[in-house]
Amino acid sequence: MNDNGSKADGARVLADLNALRTLGAYKTGVHRPTFSEPHLLSLKWLAENLPQAGLAAEIDGIGNVFGTSTKAGPKLLAGSHLESQNFAGWLDGPLGVVYALEAARVINPDPDINGAVEVAAWCDEEGHFGHFLGSRSFVGDVTEQDIDAARDRTEGRAMREALQAAGLAGRQRKTAERDRHIGYLEAHIEQGRNLESSGLTIGIVTSIVGIWQYRITVTGEQNHAGTTRMQDRKDAGLAAARLCVAIDDRFPASAGARTVWTTGRITLEPGAPSIIPGRAEILFQVRDDNSEIVARLEALLRQISTEISAASGCGIEVKCIRTGKPALMEEKFQRAIAEASSIFAGGKSLPMPSGAGHDAQVLATIMPAGMLFVPSIGGVSHHWSENTDGADIVRGAEVFVEACRRLLSSS
Ligand SMILES: [Zn+2]
Repeated sequence: MNDNGSKADGARVLADLNALRTLGAYKTGVHRPTFSEPHLLSLKWLAENLPQAGLAAEIDGIGNVFGTSTKAGPKLLAGSHLESQNFAGWLDGPLGVVYALEAARVINPDPDINGAVEVAAWCDEEGHFGHFLGSRSFVGDVTEQDIDAARDRTEGRAMREALQAAGLAGRQRKTAERDRHIGYLEAHIEQGRNLESSGLTIGIVTSIVGIWQYRITVTGEQNHAGTTRMQDRKDAGLAAARLCVAIDDRFPASAGARTVWTTGRITLEPGAPSIIPGRAEILFQVRDDNSEIVARLEALLRQISTEISAASGCGIEVKCIRTGKPALMEEKFQRAIAEASSIFAGGKSLPMPSGAGHDAQVLATIMPAGMLFVPSIGGVSHHWSENTDGADIVRGAEVFVEACRRLLSSS
């Protein structure tokens, strides 16, 4: 249908990604935290390149970059983010932004395609100052008080101060215009190894998992490690360890095929070699795209806690401190990606949920959304060695542009 029509320019995509890679270069990756100098340069780079795609560029009051079109017809919003985790990879974020730019460059000047691709780079997806602040601001979910309170998690710099230094203070924050977009499409590296291990090149995201977080507090009795007999102890640390092991033993029977759970932090108080811990705190996380499975696991977590409490003599309190909401990706978007994959990637695509959070989950709260993944070598991400084969990057761009074209043509 479009075998020799409008198509992504793979060399141009790779050249753009390599240009962004020089901003904040660290080993083979980048160090580009939100509102750092290299991050601001990357925003400027995008703003300067948007006119090539017939887009008017704007950086708003929270550091989101937008490229808007005056072309008639439907508008599809596409993008990702430009900042990185500290000392991390070159593709996490920029890949999706450059694909969006490429789709706009191919589609917008083509009079045979009805409508245009508009581009967005969402600020602070990586959460240096908060939690999806840029995309959440666009959907109207960030207050001025949220910004007053936001601080950089590494350096403690206030977000207001960072915005001031970036010359963005006082600018308006742009919010979604009702009914302007037929939806949002984002590309990203997979950051896992499902595609690589199955020899496939395109991931069609079906949903973005929700994240549930729990604070589990174990209360025992702090006492002398030399004089307290073993049978007299109420060791909160030991009870916490038993709880972690029991979770790992018993969760699999109730979990879904892709449920994941993690104990990210255990702290013992007072935390000294000669003192029996009187208190332990566990931060525990569950991710899934099915709330019913998580509800089942939460009930099991409480049951295990009750059992261990009885056996150890320690009190155990389980508190849910974050409730996730899985985001479902629009069927029509999944279909467009699958069709584009059959043309440009030999149909080597795989429907899969995303275990990582992305801006698409925020956009999905106000418009239809879709996501496409390309393989990550060795599944490595959030590390400077993160990489994707050049041929996979080019194929992904071709599939992305074609999916955008199909979404616009069918609306
Ligand atoms: Zn990312």
